[in-house]
Amino acid sequence: MRTALYPGSFDPVTNGHMDIIARASRLFDTLFVGVYANPKKDVLFSLEDRVRMLTSAVKQWPNVQVRSFANLTVECAHELGAQVLVRGLRAVTDFEYEFQLAAMYQQLRPDLEVVCLMTSVKYSFLSASLVKEVAKLGGNVDAFVPEVVAARLREVQTA
Ligand code: ADP
Repeated sequence: MRTALYPGSFDPVTNGHMDIIARASRLFDTLFVGVYANPKKDVLFSLEDRVRMLTSAVKQWPNVQVRSFANLTVECAHELGAQVLVRGLRAVTDFEYEFQLAAMYQQLRPDLEVVCLMTSVKYSFLSASLVKEVAKLGGNVDAFVPEVVAARLREVQTA
């Protein structure tokens, strides 16, 4: 059984993340999507909200499960029995950070493989922070995020 963990902040999940999840779900028997509890960056949504939106968005795939974690990513992978970490790569700008991260993971847990999936071109511009910025200024983000996220962003906007 091949099990993978796709970790991230998912604040909120975008169609770029969804594309990576869909493709990774075809590569592995089980794919865990791990929502990191305390990212360095400021978050708009609480951990519960991020998990709830993701859980709703991935329910179409029976082999995808959402978990939250607050410990080391490599430890979370170990606890879940994942042999592979999945990350997404957009552009050269992502590469440097992902390369550094993968090198650290290798040091911490040499038996864990990091697999980077290249973004689908149509999502290469998409980031959660850009979506939040556009939504905050009243722009329509329906094309960039799952429906559950678009609805939640509208709520936050009018709050
Ligand atoms: P993190 O805070 O760990 O970077 P994110 O939630 O921002 O978490 O992203 C999780 C992963 O998904 C990262 O590997 C990121 O590069 C990738 N990712 C984000 N947006 C896209 C996209 N549009 N296409 C492909 N991969 C993406």
